[in-house]
Parts: sequence; structure tokens; C-alpha cells
Amino acid sequence: MTQAEQTYADIREGVRRLVAGFPGEYWREKDRDRSYPAEFVQALTDAGYLAILIPEEFGGSGLGVSAACAVLEEIHRAGANGGAAHAQMYTMGAILRHGSDEQKARTLPGIASGALRMQAFGVTEPGAGTDTTRITTRARRDGDHYVVSGQKIWISRAEHSDLLLLLCRTTPREECARPSDGMSLLLVDLADAKANGLSIQPIRTMLNHATTALFFDDVRVPVANRLGEEGKGFKYVLDGMNAERILIAAECIGDGHFFIDRAAAYAKEREVFGRQIGANQGIQFPIARAHVQLSAAALMVDKAAAMFDAGLPCGTEANMAKMLASEASWYAADQCLQTHGGFGFAEEYDIERKFRETRLYQVAPISTNLILSHVATHVLGLPQSF
Ligand SMILES: Cc1cc2nc3c(=O)[nH]c(=O)nc-3n(C[C@H](O)[C@H](O)[C@H](O)COP(=O)(O)OP(=O)(O)OC[C@H]3O[C@@H](n4cnc5c(N)ncnc54)[C@H](O)[C@@H]3O)c2cc1C
Repeated sequence: MTQAEQTYADIREGVRRLVAGFPGEYWREKDRDRSYPAEFVQALTDAGYLAILIPEEFGGSGLGVSAACAVLEEIHRAGANGGAAHAQMYTMGAILRHGSDEQKARTLPGIASGALRMQAFGVTEPGAGTDTTRITTRARRDGDHYVVSGQKIWISRAEHSDLLLLLCRTTPREECARPSDGMSLLLVDLADAKANGLSIQPIRTMLNHATTALFFDDVRVPVANRLGEEGKGFKYVLDGMNAERILIAAECIGDGHFFIDRAAAYAKEREVFGRQIGANQGIQFPIARAHVQLSAAALMVDKAAAMFDAGLPCGTEANMAKMLASEASWYAADQCLQTHGGFGFAEEYDIERKFRETRLYQVAPISTNLILSHVATHVLGLPQSF
């Protein structure tokens, strides 16, 4: 048991009890229809788990990322999917860190109670994924409003959110001293925007992730909804990425446990050639290796979360935790599928679904190559490739 597992035993127990009410059949049905697990998200909200990072003065629990990791890890270990709601936990961090007192008072209590959903975050565009500085969605100033036009892609949960945190260009890239200048962060009221030029188009993907494309056609957003200073949005986004990466790493640790638990149980139960398949080292070693790799990754996640909660710079640790955890969960997924033979492909075992779900985390919110590039250049001092 890691230190984090011991420390948050009560939270873990509470989450386990809640998730038990949402068994595999619930998730299979949602997956089949590509529908949003609204009941599950409501139950998490009612129990207060999505407000765990919001300070007590605004109605949250005022706990740290380590506690939030415990919540997400347990959700995933049980075979559920926190991706439907995890952004409600951390997207508000931009308001907390960079919002005015008025913006905090206007939004945070509602986000804490769940009356206000803020779980959509719009950065990626068709022509700008990894290289965020290439975004072209433009916000032009018109009196006390910005007028936003452009397109975003892969914006998850936009149909299930009241507020969208939008990164857009307030100054074209070519007019800026540095490519990362000239971007601003706007809080977009989605109901209002949909009535005034925003259209949202769902994208069907290999997993049930409620992701969408957004089309802004001269959408007016009050200047009062800009977070922090104009032109500093990229820096603000970077500030929030560490929490996101650590929390998603915790989901991967939960996924890894799910696969290893299932693989070990099946290897003990399934008999082929008159004996348990788990007696064969060809079956047991990959499961043992998955456990070893996952345990190491979990330590890195604990370390990154502890550093984040202590207010220390943890960009490298958050990146390394996300990379190790997403690779460990993917290895565990592959071995779990292999252990189950043909049955691993049957929907009713939930393995093929979780297999698809955990694969995402080597690509989003940041892909493995970009983490390796960060470590190579920022930690090891190797030359920049871009
Ligand atoms: C299901 C899903 C949900 C998502 N949700 C959101 C969301 O809510 N909000 C949001 O803003 N975005 C979201 N994303 C977008 C996600 O963050 C991007 O897909 C990701 O950042 C990669 O960008 P890209 O897809 O444009 O890949 P690209 O930038 O086109 O890169 C393609 C591949 O090339 C590699 N590559 C690129 N440059 C280099 C280099 N210099 N060296 C080595 N390799 C390189 C990348 O690592 C990647 O593997 C989501 C994506 C998915 C699939």
C-alpha cells in the first residue's frame, strides 16, 4: 500500500461504495449508446467529490490534488470512468489562480455545489494540437465585449457544461514578440453562446468521451469574463496543466489495478490442459510485470501530487507521472486482454471497453513524445527539436 493509499483510506472507501452503484452493465449501456453518464456524475457531485479542490470559503472541501487522485483512482479501479467529470475538479483552478474576486464569487460557489458545470476546456484546434501557439480562434475587442470567431476540436463535455474555459488569440501570432504571447483565456457562458453563434457538433470516437467540435461565428463574450490579463492566457493554461496531468495519471493507476485484478482473478479460475492458466509462467509473468510497472508509476504519481500540494514546481514530475502511468495501464490492459483469450473481446467482461478507454491517455491531454521532448530538453539540456 502506498502512502497515499493509507492517507486517504476514508475517501477511498466512500468512493468504492458510491461506484458500486454503477456496475459494468451501466457503463456498457452508456458505451453502446455513446451517452453521457449523467446519473454517475450527479452522484459524485452530490457526494461532494467533484468539489474536493475548491477552498472551503467557496463551498468545497479545500483538499489537495493527492486527495483528488484518490477519488479518481478508485473510480477507475472499479471499472468506471472519471473522464465524464474529472474536469469539473480542476478546470476551475484557472479562476482560483487568475480570476478576480468578483469572478470567484460569481462562479466558484455554484461550481462547488454542482449547480454550475465548468468542465469544458477549449484549446485544441484542427490546425493546432501539440503546438498550441498556432491557434487561430480570434477574439476581437468591440466595446465591452470580445467577438469570437474560429473553430475548436476535441472539446470534451461541452454539451454537458455551463461554462467553457476558452483559449483564443487576442493578438495574431505574427504581431507578437513571442509565439506564446497574445492569447487570452475567456469564460464562455455556453447557453448564452449557443443562442448567439456557437454551434457544437459531437464527434463519435473509439471511446465514450462526449467530445465535440465547436464553431464560433462572431460569438460575443463580455470582457468581464476574461481571466487575468489580456495576452497572458497561454501562461495561465500552463499553470493548470500540472493538476490535470497528475489527476489523469491517477486514473491510469486505477485502470491498471482494474486490469491486473481482473487478469489475476481470471488466471486463477480458467483451466486449460487440466490446470489453471495462471500456473504457466507465460501467463503469470506478464501480470506480475504489469504489477511491478504500475507500482513504480504510482510512486511517481504520489510524488508529483505531493509536490503540487506543497506548492513546489512540478512540471517535470507531473509529465513523468502521466507518461509512466499511461504506459503502465496500457501494458496492463494488453496483458489482461491476452490472459482472457477470446473472452477479453466480449463486451460483458468490460475489458475491451476499459482497453479502449485507457489508450486515450498516451495521446491526451499531452502525447508521450511531447513529454519525452520536455525531459530531453528541460531536464537533460539536449538541443531543442522545435
Ligand atoms: C478523446 C479526446 C478528448 C480530448 N479532449 C480535449 C479537450 O477537452 N480540450 C482540448 O483542448 N483538447 C482535447 N483533446 C485534444 C488533445 O489534447 C490533442 O489530441 C493532443 O494534444 C494532440 O494534438 P493533435 O491530436 O493535434 O496531434 P498533433 O499535434 O497533430 O500530433 C500528432 C502526433 O505527432 C506527434 N508530434 C508532434 N510534434 C512532434 C515533435 N516535434 N516530435 C515528436 N512527435 C511529435 C504527437 O506527439 C502526436 O503523437 C482531446 C483529444 C481526444 C482524442
